[in-house]
Amino acid sequence: MREGAYCLVQVGANIRLERNLSMTDRLLPTFGAPADMPWQARHWAVRKSLKVDIPRHCDVRGSMHLSRGQVPVTMSRSSSSSEVSNVTCPFCGLACDDLVVGTAAGRLAVRANGCPISLALFERGSTPGAAQPRVGGKAATLEQAVGEAARLLREARQPLVAGLGTDVAGARAATRLAERCRGVLDHMNSTAAGRNALVVQDSGWITTTLSEVRNRADLVVVAASDIPSRFPRFFERCLGNRETMFGAERQCEVVLLGLGLPDGLTLNPPAKLVPCEVPRLQEAFAVLRALVAGRALQAREAAGVPLLVWQELADRMLAAHYGVIAWAAADLDFPHAELTVQVLCELIKDLNRKTRFAGLPLGGTDGDLTVDAVLLWQTGFGSRTSYARGYPEYDPYHYSTARLLQTGEADVLLWISSFNEARTPPSGPGATVALGRPGMNFQREPEVFIPVGTPGIDHAGCMFRSDRVVALPLRRLREAALPGVAEVLGAIEGAL
Ligand code: SF4
Repeated sequence: MREGAYCLVQVGANIRLERNLSMTDRLLPTFGAPADMPWQARHWAVRKSLKVDIPRHCDVRGSMHLSRGQVPVTMSRSSSSSEVSNVTCPFCGLACDDLVVGTAAGRLAVRANGCPISLALFERGSTPGAAQPRVGGKAATLEQAVGEAARLLREARQPLVAGLGTDVAGARAATRLAERCRGVLDHMNSTAAGRNALVVQDSGWITTTLSEVRNRADLVVVAASDIPSRFPRFFERCLGNRETMFGAERQCEVVLLGLGLPDGLTLNPPAKLVPCEVPRLQEAFAVLRALVAGRALQAREAAGVPLLVWQELADRMLAAHYGVIAWAAADLDFPHAELTVQVLCELIKDLNRKTRFAGLPLGGTDGDLTVDAVLLWQTGFGSRTSYARGYPEYDPYHYSTARLLQTGEADVLLWISSFNEARTPPSGPGATVALGRPGMNFQREPEVFIPVGTPGIDHAGCMFRSDRVVALPLRRLREAALPGVAEVLGAIEGAL
């Protein structure tokens, strides 16, 4: 955002127009912040001070709905009253919005447009008794569980609010609670997401949207990522269409770097595999940069693949009208993978000198991009932000869940996982308060367990798609007695 621009920020129940944070230093004298205050605190102080009431004619109703997770959606039902069509799936960053889901006695079944992930996670019904909160392993009322969670957080030296598998409303409530109890906020996927975040912070990137891929891309290069397992309908939804906004005969070529497709999956036209060594992908992208720039290389191979193959790929990239490099940071699981992402992003910038190219970083599972977006607009930072000093302070190393638990710095863990009961809290030396889907199986029974509803199934909500440009409304599909994450966190905050 350019310096001096305004943005919408929610403060309490109000939406306000605020000036861009980059004006911090210029405005410090106006607001009397001491010059020796840590820069993050000064940043925060100015951000809190610069408030302009939004003019009445500005329409911010969309933002208000986002903040409350109360998107007014009319259910469109198909001929059978027990079937709901055009359901948005919250279980990966594609957020497919064309599912048909049948409901019967509180149990759900995906009847059309599902995938292995959505079939499993929509259809898992509550088991009897699973909706009962527990304190110390014994059944308790919601009030008792909330009271005990508040007591643990109140007495904690360093609370850690982690997991954060939730929607917009849940992320807002978690941020408020962390500010109140001076806790650290860290999403369960932030190690993988950090590989991208470090690049954006350092040198920026050029990315595209799922709609652009669907309508314009004629070449998609997949960088060593298991897209069929992580985003099962990506090829069907984004590459399988022949008809686009601009024509009816679209063909998109797919090149796979390092990882092939699973057995039985074929694309039309068939995908081409370049069998390079995945940890040496950075070398491959560096060579592609040189070839795209027309430099002569003396090397005969890169990343275990002959140079001729890289030259062919560089030529194909330069010939593309709209090329895309897609990757899932979670699959680039080797030391210093952020450097690989950075060279990839620099290659995209180079290609844009000669043709049109963009990146497609795929993510969004367990609400990671949603939480990141909320933290960004609420605190100015992303995941791994601490309120221990009373203002938000970002540190991707010191505020990682694994480090805080290993060192014993965090003595109370508040774990949130409302999408997937398999994402259980990591073990640590201190007490654990878990907010999870019913049926969560723990290695060690937490001090407090509060079953919560899933956004898009048990209550309405909102989540950001993988490309971050679209926040999709999620519907309530069944009557459930389960409270949402935002509701429970609000109650805990009230009891602090
Ligand atoms: S691909 Fe992702 S969003 Fe689409 S149905 Fe499967 S899990 Fe849901």
